[in-house]
Amino acid sequence: MSVDLGMPAAPPRPLARRRKSRQIMVGNVPVGGDAPVSVQSMTTTLTADVNATLQQIAELTASGCQIVRVAVPSADDAEALPIIAKKSQIPVIADIHFQPKYVFAAIDAGCAAVRVNPGNIKKFDDKVGEIAKAASDAGVPIRIGVNAGSLDKRLMEKYGKATPEALVESALWECSLFEEHGFRDIKISVKHNDPVVMIQAYRLLAEQCDYPLHLGVTEAGPAFQGTIKSAVAFGALLAEGIGDTIRVSLSAPPVEEIKVGTQILESLGLRQRGLEIVSCPSCGRAQVDVYTLAEEVTAGLEGMDVPLRVAVMGCVVNGPGEAREADLGVASGNGKGQIFVKGEVIKTVPESKIVETLIEEAMRIAEEMRDSGVASGEPTVAVAGR
Ligand code: SF4
Repeated sequence: MSVDLGMPAAPPRPLARRRKSRQIMVGNVPVGGDAPVSVQSMTTTLTADVNATLQQIAELTASGCQIVRVAVPSADDAEALPIIAKKSQIPVIADIHFQPKYVFAAIDAGCAAVRVNPGNIKKFDDKVGEIAKAASDAGVPIRIGVNAGSLDKRLMEKYGKATPEALVESALWECSLFEEHGFRDIKISVKHNDPVVMIQAYRLLAEQCDYPLHLGVTEAGPAFQGTIKSAVAFGALLAEGIGDTIRVSLSAPPVEEIKVGTQILESLGLRQRGLEIVSCPSCGRAQVDVYTLAEEVTAGLEGMDVPLRVAVMGCVVNGPGEAREADLGVASGNGKGQIFVKGEVIKTVPESKIVETLIEEAMRIAEEMRDSGVASGEPTVAVAGR
């Protein structure tokens, strides 16, 4: 097999020009326009439990989350917003369903944005003027977040189900109510649990407005299924230049959502690739347990923040040539591993020492990269295909 292990320094050319969208500011994070696509998540704690929520936000921040959303279903949650908004290191979006009064509370609390769901906000439409004024005065953008599961009753009757057209009509109708009051500080999502419907909805929406778009496959499922669905749907749209901020929805801890979202952006070249472990899939020629080796190296380098490419190859047939192309690599055979750094064999170690040697060398190279000011990124793992 042959694998392209080119150096990661030069970012790949983008697949498509980004759709031109107006830019809004979610706190200090620009969304839309020429801003990089941002990654966000949502806390799973009770928002009223301030300590637990701030703890989870801190974990999300450490994992690379750029914007966080918190649910505000009760007065206790609304009361917790000022301290959460103040203490969070990343912008906090209040997620409001059913109760327009919490929109005002969130704006007063200093939240960076408010998400409303047109299908679920009762008697919302007659409050749009007041909300637009409060949001405009505070410089707070609104996300109009339409969900297939809570589509406006009127549109459900018109379309029979949550079609792409129905989702888009709901979102644009809500936008028009804000526009009547001169408010355009808006971003939109039109989520569906079916990636095909979701892709069609966002394509339609992208043609019909210039608002920045928040991508999401709603109720995507447990980690494996949700990751695939989100990667497929976001990949299709982002490859067409559609999408300004993403949230991967998983039935899993929110930090996992950030890992997946970050990996999607890195895979598409929309974010600088971080540590990349290129490992062969193994075959009958393998002379070491490639899976275990790759897993151990990945685990040992978790948290590395530099764009380092590490090759883990299973045999001497193709291994040496491929390992040479990476920053750091191993080609295994006969119970030994040849360790390559920048194309040169620096040592040969017994199989039992391969992992620790790779980790030591990776740490050393990473230190040199940091000293020379190389930008940071999240770890990525690429399995070389046959
Ligand atoms: S063991 Fe790995 S590197 Fe060697 S031929 Fe098989 S897949 Fe390729």
